[in-house]
Amino acid sequence: MVQERRRSWAEPYKIKMVEPVKMTDRNDRKKALEEAGYNTFLLHSEDVYIDLLTDSGTSAMSDRQWAAMMMGDEAYAGSRNFYSLEKTIQDYYGYRYVVPTHQGRAAEHILSQILIKEGDIIPGNMYFTTTKLHQELAGGQFVDVIIDEAHDPDHEHPFKGNVDLNKLEDLIKKHGAGHIPYVSIATSVNMAGGQPISMENLKGLRELTQKHGIKIVHDMTRVAENAYMIKTRETGYENAHVADIVREICDLTDAATMSSKKDALVNIGGFLAVNDWDIFEEARNMVVVYEGLHTYGGLAGRDMEAMAIGITESVQEDHIRARVGQVQYLGEKIDQYGVPIVKPIGTHGVFLNARRMLEHLPQDQFPAQTLAAELYLDSGIRAMERGVVSAGRNPETGDHIYPELELVRLTIPRRVYTQAHMDVVAESVEEIYINREKVKGLKMTYEPKYLRFFQARFEPLG
Ligand SMILES: *Cc1c(COP(=O)(O)O)cnc(C)c1O
Repeated sequence: MVQERRRSWAEPYKIKMVEPVKMTDRNDRKKALEEAGYNTFLLHSEDVYIDLLTDSGTSAMSDRQWAAMMMGDEAYAGSRNFYSLEKTIQDYYGYRYVVPTHQGRAAEHILSQILIKEGDIIPGNMYFTTTKLHQELAGGQFVDVIIDEAHDPDHEHPFKGNVDLNKLEDLIKKHGAGHIPYVSIATSVNMAGGQPISMENLKGLRELTQKHGIKIVHDMTRVAENAYMIKTRETGYENAHVADIVREICDLTDAATMSSKKDALVNIGGFLAVNDWDIFEEARNMVVVYEGLHTYGGLAGRDMEAMAIGITESVQEDHIRARVGQVQYLGEKIDQYGVPIVKPIGTHGVFLNARRMLEHLPQDQFPAQTLAAELYLDSGIRAMERGVVSAGRNPETGDHIYPELELVRLTIPRRVYTQAHMDVVAESVEEIYINREKVKGLKMTYEPKYLRFFQARFEPLG
């Protein structure tokens, strides 16, 4: 940990149960990679040694959460666990009304359908894949209003998740507030490399949007991590509790969608939370069509209980300091090897700058996809592409969208891996970096229509 550099530091928990992992050799991995079409999403998890594909649903639950799983009230309607979850969300996040969903995208779907009309503009601090798609499917168009620094992987801005209020104001002038139902704000912006938004910026945004009667919808998937960064980087918050900062963030917004598979430390679950009764009424009605009754929303009672406890654990100081601290540890180590990474180091993962690492590969040879494949081949580490494959195609021209950021994300599950695992990861990244000139690019051989990065297949060039 940063504050305690002089002494060794370890995780604030001990391990009660272990899950053995299979050790593979390079030949095994080559075969597995070919079968997976060089797409790490298509690998069997059994063939993976250290799985850094995502921090979504991959957390280790605590003994308290597991104990809560035995306290499930599996009644179809009015489960005790729903009321416990509802109260936890109200207490910790402050939103008035809660609709549980099976995961985050279901909440996005419902809220987008309720709030967006055909032709609407949805400004946001960088897109997220499922969020943007649901906005588009509801007839809206997402417009990125994040500060320019967020697109520059070398810029050390402490709050790269900030909204450029001038860009937003111009957008309001151009389209009129009547065509902007809400601003879509993510805390700890995933696609920018896990970069936080500052409280100051959020307050400025609140003022501007209130003036125009525009709502703020909060993608609060990683709100605890964002709050921790505010505590460590923003003046005036040094001594604040993370739980209080989380609450302050939520209080500046009108509604939220949550994938509880991230910060909230569960393997499945999510919710929609709003302050407006009318929106709640409509959401509560819609959830019955798509997810299940409004007191379970596609979840078992036990899942809701584990989520309620996960929410309380997610804002504990020791937990969040260790969680973000482990990510910083890995990032600093990779940085010391001279490997180009996104700076500052994010909160949920380390983002390798594949474009700079594999400079000899043009973007249409998918440098980040290539790097993810090489990492798996070298050491059985599974990472995720966040570049041209994830960005998809321009719906009008049909061309690839070429994002400035061509990254490989090493996403760290919460409470799962040890510091020794992080060392193995850093060394493997260094190994590929040393031999980078020998790496050849990929060509796409199969491309699905939606969210192509999940199922696309590739072959090595030359
Ligand atoms: C994961 C994620 C979502 C979608 O949530 P799911 O639970 O995967 O459906 C939305 N927004 C952000 C920022 C996410 O990281």
